Amino acid sequence: MTELYPLALRLTDRKVLVVGGGAVATRRVPALLSVGARVLLVSPELTPALQSLVDAGRLTWVARRFQPVDVDEAWLVQVAIDDDDAAAEVSAAALERRVFCVRADDRDAATAWTPAVTRHGPLTVAVTAGGDPHRAQVVRDAIRDGLSDGTLPGCHVPDAPAGFSGAAPQVPAAPGRVVLVGAGPGDPELITVKGRRLLAAADVVVADRLVPGLLLDELRPEVELVDASKIPYGPSKAQEEINRIIVDRARAGAFVVRLKGGDPYVFGRGGEEAIACAEAGIPVTVVPGVTSSIAAAAVAGIPVTHRGVAHEFTVVSGHVAPDDPSSLVDWPSLAGMRGTVVILMGLKNLPKIAATLLANGRPAETPAAVVQEGTTGEQRVVRATLGDVVEKTAAAGLRPPAIVVVGDVVNALSAVPIP
Ligand code: SAH
Repeated sequence: MTELYPLALRLTDRKVLVVGGGAVATRRVPALLSVGARVLLVSPELTPALQSLVDAGRLTWVARRFQPVDVDEAWLVQVAIDDDDAAAEVSAAALERRVFCVRADDRDAATAWTPAVTRHGPLTVAVTAGGDPHRAQVVRDAIRDGLSDGTLPGCHVPDAPAGFSGAAPQVPAAPGRVVLVGAGPGDPELITVKGRRLLAAADVVVADRLVPGLLLDELRPEVELVDASKIPYGPSKAQEEINRIIVDRARAGAFVVRLKGGDPYVFGRGGEEAIACAEAGIPVTVVPGVTSSIAAAAVAGIPVTHRGVAHEFTVVSGHVAPDDPSSLVDWPSLAGMRGTVVILMGLKNLPKIAATLLANGRPAETPAAVVQEGTTGEQRVVRATLGDVVEKTAAAGLRPPAIVVVGDVVNALSAVPIP
């Protein structure tokens, strides 16, 4: 096999022929569609995943065996069948028309290869390994991990100016911007791939108390870390100060990641920060996170919905007591629901919350659970009923951060041990 000449293809609105409708095509077609290729798929049969793409109008399916005319007008052919003779026939038709042809079944007969790929925002890394796909994947995985955790540079190189065409880049200081990133519920592995990539690219990170410490451990030494929980004012003044810090740093040209526990818009005041940035004319985007309201329950073996048990779940803040006139939670309605209620920031007011739910008709035997520091090494779970949850939580000495789950889902999985 002689050396290959690597290329990146622009396939938008260009016809790509895929022959075969099985597992290989199922893996390859989405990548072609994601770059805007016009896919013609020829195969007597399809996998359900491909069928759903056809149903959605994303590609054209011709339900028969391959005919050489299928290659006409195509810029690329992808052979995804394991019948050698049929594959050779496709190859021959492509060769005759001088169309490059990728073959899953025979890399030596192929005139083009698909590399192992990893994408990180604007960066695409494609790896080939002399025909050893396993080696290519291992190297690709190592590069992907390095780019994700910042040990490989790439993500923290400033974006090149738009229209950059390949000459040595004269990179101007990128204009500042802010991203509100959800850090997940506590386990540092539960941040999203996008969140982790942007974190590795940050100049300034403004982090909350509930952000997993290990994520901050990975930051490059030159990154400025602002610990928002140490801002020495009352809550509302502190929020103003956080808004001021993120806006000021972005104005000075920094890429600011505002890292928040769970999801930024679930009781995280992320909305206020987004407004503050927008009002100051600073570009701001959000990367959602895995919220503790679902995740802490899940790791305690509690699905927030379960077929035949609960078809709704409501997440409320217990920060303001139910008898406080400033509470925005409709506690009597919650008590009347059959579905799951998840209470965040509810430990301090738990006696009043449980009493209110009971007084408004939720039965005392309704299962309830409290999950402290879910998804972390400190996780603790107390199972109870609405009638005795206050007593059992106090006896176990649970402390914040914790969620309280009320509803039959608490016991939905208790018959089977889920690791
Ligand atoms: N934005 C966050 C919630 C912020 S409010 C999210 O989406 O998860 C803070 C409250 O979240 C805490 O008081 C607690 O009720 C809950 N919480 C956050 N992390 C938690 C965890 N690991 N386990 C249990 N509860 C948690």
